[in-house]
Amino acid sequence: ADALAHAESLIRTVPDYPEPGVLFRDITPLLADAGALRAVIDALIEPFDGGFDVVAGVEARGFLLAGAAATVAGVGMVPVRKAGKLPRPAASVSYALEYARATIEVHDDLAPGTRVLLVDDVLATGGTLAAAHELFAELGVVVVGTAVLMELEALGGRALVHDVHTVFTA
Ligand code: IMP
Repeated sequence: ADALAHAESLIRTVPDYPEPGVLFRDITPLLADAGALRAVIDALIEPFDGGFDVVAGVEARGFLLAGAAATVAGVGMVPVRKAGKLPRPAASVSYALEYARATIEVHDDLAPGTRVLLVDDVLATGGTLAAAHELFAELGVVVVGTAVLMELEALGGRALVHDVHTVFTA
């Protein structure tokens, strides 16, 4: 618990980034601290108790957590990428951002029945993780859990993404 409190204290809040009026949560100081990184990775996967076969992370900050979580859990990692980055995308989902649209894609290299734990850094409006759920549904792959490092509660992302496990809430 001490290690987690220390980790939380390392998340830096940056006003007016990337645009005026936005309070950006910057996890890079936490990532740079060995004990904090390990504590949050353990906390991220703890409720799922090994009940997953692979960890999927959403580009780009989700990769950082998903790779570490997969290594700690002893499983593999699947990148969910922005459009145009994967050579053989098998599924593609477009979703609304505040002022634009985004598209995410994934390969289909998972055996039928593979249990996916879906990970990202921050849950804001929930659009990104809801789209990632759709992506795996298109492949017919089961997402057994969703975990984020931080939930920004005021943005109401939980309405779009049910049963998210969150390590920190702001
Ligand atoms: P959503 O789709 O609105 O839930 O936004 C979540 C996505 O935006 C995640 O992939 C995050 O990486 C990113 N994001 C939104 N707000 C923040 C923030 O304050 N810090 C870091 N990433 C953020």
